[in-house]
Amino acid sequence: MTQESVNPTPQVNSCPEFPYFGARYPDARCINGYLWDMDSYDDGYFTIGGEEPCPFCNTEEYLEQSVDEENPREEVLKNIEYVRRKYS
Ligand SMILES: [Zn+2]
Repeated sequence: MTQESVNPTPQVNSCPEFPYFGARYPDARCINGYLWDMDSYDDGYFTIGGEEPCPFCNTEEYLEQSVDEENPREEVLKNIEYVRRKYS
């Protein structure tokens, strides 16, 4: 077991699962503010993820990494709300 993996079971939060890691279906789950790839579930653990901030509960960090000239803050926030409504 490496630090790259995390046990998804004991987490409690209200962030929706949503498509993030390239799938058309919800494939991202927030654990402690960071997203993990649900398709990386292996032997009770997620093995891919942990570096991407969750847009719902770790919004500031998500904005920091997502906002740029082509993606203004308002657009990114709008998109977060859209995804939250769609997948909640
Ligand atoms: Zn979250």
